Amino acid sequence: MDNYNKLFIDGRWQQPAGADHLEVINPATETCIARVPKGSAEDVDRAVRAARSAFEDWSSKSSDDRRAILLRIADLMEARKADLTAAVSASMGCPQHIATWLQVDGPIEAMRLFAEHTGITEQINEAGHSLVWREAVGVCAFINPWNYPLHQFVGKVGAALAAGCTMVVKPSEQTPLQDFLMAEIMLEAGLPNGVFNLVSGRGAEVGQALCEHPQVDMVSFTGSTRAGVEIAKAAAPTVKRVTQELGGKSPYIITADADLAAAVRYGVDDVMINSGQTCTALTRMLVPVERTDEVAELIRARVEEISVGAGEDAFMGPVSSLRQWQQVQDYIGIGLEEGATLLCGGPGKPDGHTTGYYVQPTVFTDVRNDMRIAREEIFGPVLCVIPYSDLDEAVAIANDSPYGLSSGVHAATEQDALAIARRIRAGLCFVNGGEFNYRAPFGGYKQSGNGREFSAHGVEEFTEIKSVQLGKPAE
Ligand code: NAD
Repeated sequence: MDNYNKLFIDGRWQQPAGADHLEVINPATETCIARVPKGSAEDVDRAVRAARSAFEDWSSKSSDDRRAILLRIADLMEARKADLTAAVSASMGCPQHIATWLQVDGPIEAMRLFAEHTGITEQINEAGHSLVWREAVGVCAFINPWNYPLHQFVGKVGAALAAGCTMVVKPSEQTPLQDFLMAEIMLEAGLPNGVFNLVSGRGAEVGQALCEHPQVDMVSFTGSTRAGVEIAKAAAPTVKRVTQELGGKSPYIITADADLAAAVRYGVDDVMINSGQTCTALTRMLVPVERTDEVAELIRARVEEISVGAGEDAFMGPVSSLRQWQQVQDYIGIGLEEGATLLCGGPGKPDGHTTGYYVQPTVFTDVRNDMRIAREEIFGPVLCVIPYSDLDEAVAIANDSPYGLSSGVHAATEQDALAIARRIRAGLCFVNGGEFNYRAPFGGYKQSGNGREFSAHGVEEFTEIKSVQLGKPAE
C-alpha cells in the first residue's frame, strides 16, 4: 500500500494540508506498523465540498447503477480479502484466523446484501391524494471506532451508497488501515469522484470538524457514550441527523432448565472473543442461584481451554492499546475491591506474555448488579456472573442498566426463550445460541444509541421522506 501518507478526496489520493502523522501500533508486538495523515479541519472542508458536489449526480443514479457498484465493491473486497484481513489483524492484534471469519467475511457479505436495497429511493406509496417516497439524506459523516473496524465501515458506507448518499469517513486513530484499502477498492470499482472520501485524524479535530460542518447533513457514529454525546452536541446547532451506536452491558439469562453446558460455553465465548471488545458482548451472565456452583465449574473448564496469543491456535489476542489494557486492569481492581469473587484470570498479563497488551480471560462470580463492574462497560475479556432467585428477578436485573444494546436468553425451549426475550429492553436478543445476522437490523435502546444499522432498516436511516400532494384531476 503506497497511499497511507495521503487522503482520499474527490476520487484521488491527495496530500493532506498538514504534515503531521498518526502512528498505527500493533498491540500484539507494541511496534509501529504504519503512519497515516493526521488530517485537519481544512482537509475535512475539502472532502465535504467534494461530497457535496457529487451528491446530485450520485443520488439521481438508478437503483440498478448503484446496485452494480455495490456488487463490484463486494467482489473486490473478496479479491482483496487477504489484505483486508492482514490490515485488521495487524492493527488490532487479532489472530489472523479469527480476523478472517470474525472481522472480514461478515462485512463482505453485508456489502453484498446492501445491493438488495438500492431500490428504496424508487418505491412510491400512495396515501390518499399524496405520493410518498424516500430520497437520499445527503452528505454523511462517518466516525468509527477500532473494535470491528471493517464491520462498522460497511454498516455505514454500504447503507449510505445504497440510499444514494455521498460521504466522508473518519476511521479510528488506532485502526485506519482497512479504510485506506477500501478507498482503493472504491476507486477500482468505478465509484464516481467525490462520493466516497477518507480523512484520517483525531476525533477532536477531524471528528469535530465533520460534526460542525454546515454542508454535512447526517453524522453516523459508533464508539463510546462519551464521544457519542459530544458528537450529538456538536451536530445540534446545524440540526443534523445523528445516529449513534454506543456502549452496552448486555444481560444473558440462563434459565434453571436450560442445557447448562451449551449455555455456558456460548456465554463465555461470546465475552472472550475479540478480547472482550464487542459492544454486544453478553457481559452479565444471569444464573439461577441454585445452579451457580455447576455454572462456575463449567466456566472454569471453558476458560482453561482458551488460548491467548497471536498464532493459529489462539482464540484471544491482546486488547487494542495500552490505554485499553490499563482500563481493563483498573476494572479488575474495582471488581476485587467491590467484593466480587474472582473465579478465573485476574490482574496482570497471562503467563508467557511480556510483550503485547494481553489480558487474562477473567470471570467474577457473586456479582451484584449495583457493582460498577456490572454497570459500566469494561470493554475487555471480563465476565460477571450474577445470581438470581426467580425469572421475574432475572428480567428485572437484565433491564436494570442504562444500556440496552444486546441481550441473550438460553432456556429449555425456543418458545420459553422467546417469551423472556419479549420482556428485555434491548435492540438485539440472541436466543438459545443464536448467531449474528447481517440481514437483521442492529442497534440499541436507551443509552446504547439511536438508529439501526444493516438490513433495509439500516438503509432507511440514510433517507428523507417526501410527501407530494397531488392536485385534483381537471374535469
Ligand atoms: P471513542 O468513542 O473515544 O472514539 C471512537 C471514534 O470517535 C474515534 O474515531 C474517535 O476519533 C472519534 N471521536 C472521539 N471523540 C470525538 C469527538 N469529540 N468528536 C468527534 N469524534 C470523536 O472510543 P475509543 O477511544 O476508541 O474507545 C473508548 C471507549 O469506547 C472504549 O474503552 C470502549 O468502552 C468504548 N467503545 C465502544 C464501542 C462500541 O461499539 N460500543 C466501540 C469502541 C469503543
